[in-house]
Amino acid sequence: MNVDVLWSKLLENLKTELTSLSYDTWFSDTKLYKLDNEKAYIIVPMAIHKKHLSNNYSDIIKNNLNILTGTNYELVFILSDELEDEKNKEEEKELYENTPKKVENINSNLNKNYTFDNFIVGNSNKFAQASALSVAENPGLLYNPLFLYGNSGLGKTHLMHAIGNYVVEHSNKCVLYVTSEQFRQDFVKASRRDDDGTNFNYVDFFKDKYRNVDVLLIDDIQFLGGASKSQDEFFHTFNILHNDNKQIVISSDRSPDDLKILEERLRTRFTWGLQANIYPPELALKKEILKKKIVANDFNDDIPDEVIEYMANNIGPDVRKLEGAVTRLVAYSTIMGGEKITLDLAIEALKDNISKGIGEKNNIQRIQRIVSEYFQISTEDIRSKKRSANISFPRQIAMYLCRNMTTESFPKIAIEFGGKDHTTVMYSVEKIENEIKINKDLANIIEKLKKDIGGV
Ligand code: ADP
Ligand code: MG
Repeated sequence: MNVDVLWSKLLENLKTELTSLSYDTWFSDTKLYKLDNEKAYIIVPMAIHKKHLSNNYSDIIKNNLNILTGTNYELVFILSDELEDEKNKEEEKELYENTPKKVENINSNLNKNYTFDNFIVGNSNKFAQASALSVAENPGLLYNPLFLYGNSGLGKTHLMHAIGNYVVEHSNKCVLYVTSEQFRQDFVKASRRDDDGTNFNYVDFFKDKYRNVDVLLIDDIQFLGGASKSQDEFFHTFNILHNDNKQIVISSDRSPDDLKILEERLRTRFTWGLQANIYPPELALKKEILKKKIVANDFNDDIPDEVIEYMANNIGPDVRKLEGAVTRLVAYSTIMGGEKITLDLAIEALKDNISKGIGEKNNIQRIQRIVSEYFQISTEDIRSKKRSANISFPRQIAMYLCRNMTTESFPKIAIEFGGKDHTTVMYSVEKIENEIKINKDLANIIEKLKKDIGGV
């Protein structure tokens, strides 16, 4: 990569953006010394340039560098005589190359919040997590590539960042995380700009960037696009990294076999290493995740088990939705003046998050609602002690359905119907059972209601 051409291009841009006085004073004697993974080293003539450029022109330089390279560099201004020191330091650095040290690797695109420490493990994701950790501990050596797949919201992206963060923390290896969409865009942009008349080769720059990493994390490979130059480019990148024993981690929403949009030669390569499927979380894991996320939200009050149980049972497998529900619940309780979180409060707070959209506490309430809607009476009435026929008859039907479609006991059903005596429930159930046998219309209504209620 030619840093001189890059810098002269950047200076050209600056010339158009600055007055000629500022440009001549601050930029005319500058030079780009080198770019490394995260820093751009700029040689300046005098100490005053260092201060002035970093105070006043950092943003404009960074922006222009980003426009030209697609990368965010930190700027380091150096005087020519400091250059010698810098060179010595580099030699030193090479000597200590193998000593683990913490690097603030800003260009890795890593999200520091996704780590192995805060990834909660259960049966459904145990294998994926263990595979990811062993790759993080031995990049390039054990399973290459590691192919993680599973539905949206199950933790694939989290695990990829966790691998990256772990490697950065424990070695000096260079890590790069991108989505396949970013990879594609980066490549398309570089290809387009190669004809801009300068002899700066953007595609070479692109290749350097991707082919010189130690760990490449490519997320959501299903979006790489059909047969295309980007796919071809990824194929070559893959081969070069793989030959060099550089670690590749790929994620996808489906297995390599089902990635029909990708060419056979790529799919085959994806099966060379290890494939790990993440399954939807089981109930116990959902509860564990909910509990930990509540603590992570700095919410210290004890949340009753029934609330956790209710959330775990009613929110689907997508962990992102579990997180959303926790945020909402905690916010709701704060807005309500720090009210204690009870089951009722949770139902109210999560009305919109719960897929049934209603947020009933249990199946008895669900049946009460459906029967009330059918007979066009209110749920208050169906639970009341009112004896008029237009209410008591639907109430008996609802009691019958509760007994037949749930595993609830007579006393429990009685409580949910306004605290009646449980013999009243027994009587109602028996009455409806007998009537169905002789009344075809009623039998039809009951059938229809059962369908509406569905699997409870
Ligand atoms: P995917 O990439 O599979 O769609 P993500 O990794 O983006 O899913 O996960 C969605 C959200 O759920 C993220 O905020 C992530 O931190 C969280 N998450 C998923 N699985 C877990 C887990 N096992 N432990 C903790 N957080 C998780
Ligand atoms: Mg993801």
